[in-house]
Amino acid sequence: MAKKCIICDKDAEYCVKDTSDYYCKECALEHFGDLSYLITAEEQAKRLKEALERELEEEKENEDS
Ligand SMILES: [Zn+2]
Repeated sequence: MAKKCIICDKDAEYCVKDTSDYYCKECALEHFGDLSYLITAEEQAKRLKEALERELEEEKENEDS
């Protein structure tokens, strides 16, 4: 599912790490001046997925004990 830029509603390529603030490249550059505060939407999706998997793993461990 493609994320939308929170400013202009175009397809977002970037987001602020650990938030759900998504930006297209133009708005990200305009808003932050550079892209060093941002990670790609793809990277964010990967991080969310990993966090979720970790959580499930921990739940499983708790059940076992
Ligand atoms: Zn935008």
